Amino acid sequence: MYDVDRVAAALRGVLPSDRVTTAPEDMIVYSYDGTWLVGRPQMAVTPLDAREVAAAVRVAADEHVPIVPRGAASGLAGGAVPAFGGIVVNMTRMNRILDIDRVNMTVVTQPGVVTASLQAAVEREGLFYPPDPASLRQSTIGGNIATCAGGPRCLKYGVTRDYVLGLEAVLPSGEIMRTGARTAKNVTGYDLTHLFVGSEGTLGLVTEATLRLVPLPRARRTVMADFSTVSGAASSVTDVLEAGIVPCAMELMDNTTILLVEEHLHAGLNTRAGALLLIEVDGDPEVVPRQAEEIAAICQQRANGVRLAGDQKEADTLWTARRSVASAFGKLRPHRLGEDIAVPRSKIPEAVERIRDIGIEHDLTIAIFGHAGDGNLHPNILLDLRDEDETSRTLAAAEEIFRVAMQLGGVLSGEHGIGLLKRDYLAENLDPQALAVMRAIKRTIDPQNIMNPGKVLSPN
Ligand SMILES: Cc1cc2nc3c(=O)[nH]c(=O)nc-3n(C[C@H](O)[C@H](O)[C@H](O)COP(=O)(O)OP(=O)(O)OC[C@H]3O[C@@H](n4cnc5c(N)ncnc54)[C@H](O)[C@@H]3O)c2cc1C
Repeated sequence: MYDVDRVAAALRGVLPSDRVTTAPEDMIVYSYDGTWLVGRPQMAVTPLDAREVAAAVRVAADEHVPIVPRGAASGLAGGAVPAFGGIVVNMTRMNRILDIDRVNMTVVTQPGVVTASLQAAVEREGLFYPPDPASLRQSTIGGNIATCAGGPRCLKYGVTRDYVLGLEAVLPSGEIMRTGARTAKNVTGYDLTHLFVGSEGTLGLVTEATLRLVPLPRARRTVMADFSTVSGAASSVTDVLEAGIVPCAMELMDNTTILLVEEHLHAGLNTRAGALLLIEVDGDPEVVPRQAEEIAAICQQRANGVRLAGDQKEADTLWTARRSVASAFGKLRPHRLGEDIAVPRSKIPEAVERIRDIGIEHDLTIAIFGHAGDGNLHPNILLDLRDEDETSRTLAAAEEIFRVAMQLGGVLSGEHGIGLLKRDYLAENLDPQALAVMRAIKRTIDPQNIMNPGKVLSPN
């Protein structure tokens, strides 16, 4: 075990002392992420550049101390929770956008930039960074890269991975590595950039990223349709895609989610609907209104009601409703376990039905929403953690939900990552040889196992 005073003194030798803390009240703040998991660190540092990150990591490497990268801590898998104590590296002050290149459509950024701020900055230049986690007003680009964040628009535009061209990262040895390039194409050696995307801070700290941008769509329209059943909504998703239209988002909410959101926001959702689809198309102003009409007509065949947002203000209200589901749930129960399974799109109705049965069996409220176009569902189990029995029923239900995903040919996580939360189920969802290769990669890059230990891969 390391000597905290000695390690803290070494950190103060390489970083200004006002950016190194061991204060108990700070340690409490750095114990959490967006889950209910808790792990207390002993130290935290707030670097301003890669050189400072590298210096702190070298101290950790010399003293065998766990190091935990942390962005906005909005993660929903426990990735930023210091499960084994150690040093939290708070990346939020590395928050400068370094270069926006309009001609080559790229942005070079530090990792602590908030996702929505980066989007706003490139949009002022007529460019677009599509990945849009619902947490975009809090989450950082570094956290998005580390979790390969998704969001509603990923149906058309892809996830964070599809926008990362290159990285600068500090390895567990304290060495600084640069990967990728500003070029649109690059097959020069192994793809280390994408090895780091989604690695949840277990291989190193991202200190700079070069991201691909696309032209800002000049028009967008939103359609909302409500259905008696989830199955009707899911069939409409297929109908729209089969008609050759790829909307940028196709979001599903079940009746429980609709009721809670409407009570919270009064956005005009039909609370009698069994399910609701929120669909957005974007692109050319000549094409978008026609596609929106076509989508409305397709949905009309199965829906009870279809509404085409008349203007951007109305569309924004509907999307705010979608982005507010997490806060709406808080009105019913103080805590939630936000799940994140992904299944083949055709399996959505079966997945929803089985998750509902799990809720009934365990006497729990499970609200289901998600990215229907991607087959990515977020069953949220609502609970009060002070109720021990309800908590243990929640954990049992979550395990059953993971198994439903796997039995339907899906995966444990579509976008939140594995972190601590799903680590113990990873082996069930991966080919054993693939898991062995992952362990070998981790051992090679981080032989001391100091970089975010215990996340993604279980210790043995
Ligand atoms: C209300 C709500 C809605 C959400 N909606 C979505 C959604 O639609 N889609 C989605 O994908 N996620 C969503 N999330 C989850 C979360 O916001 C994302 O996982 C996000 O990418 C985390 O970013 P962060 O900056 O908060 O990272 P943190 O939570 O701080 O960290 C997440 C992981 O990344 C690592 N990390 C952070 N910064 C770095 C870095 N610079 N270098 C290396 N590793 C690093 C951490 O160690 C940790 O393992 C939501 C969360 C909330 C609370």
